[in-house]
Amino acid sequence: MKFLYCEHCHYAFEDEQCPACGNKKVREPLSNDACFLCEKQMMWAEMLAEALKNNGIPVVLKKRMGMGMALKVGPMMERCKVYVPFSCLQKAREIVDEMFSETNGSDVT
Ligand SMILES: [Zn+2]
Repeated sequence: MKFLYCEHCHYAFEDEQCPACGNKKVREPLSNDACFLCEKQMMWAEMLAEALKNNGIPVVLKKRMGMGMALKVGPMMERCKVYVPFSCLQKAREIVDEMFSETNGSDVT
């Protein structure tokens, strides 16, 4: 399976252009490129980060909302993007599947 990487979105994908922004100036990912894994509510993102770390996968969390939005809807509703190095992306996706396939809550995606 061959991946390409969009530097703009930090997104690794199996397509000819970035599915997020349509960028065609993409390159092959390097093993330490930070790749977008998923976006979760803060609570789930932190649980996921913990599970990834337990598997030896370094993880970066980026909050999506600005402070104003977070105050409005409350910190529990705050969403968070999760990034992992490309070399760990496949493993990380498996962990995400394991963690979130059974919970089936309305807001975990
Ligand atoms: Zn992109």
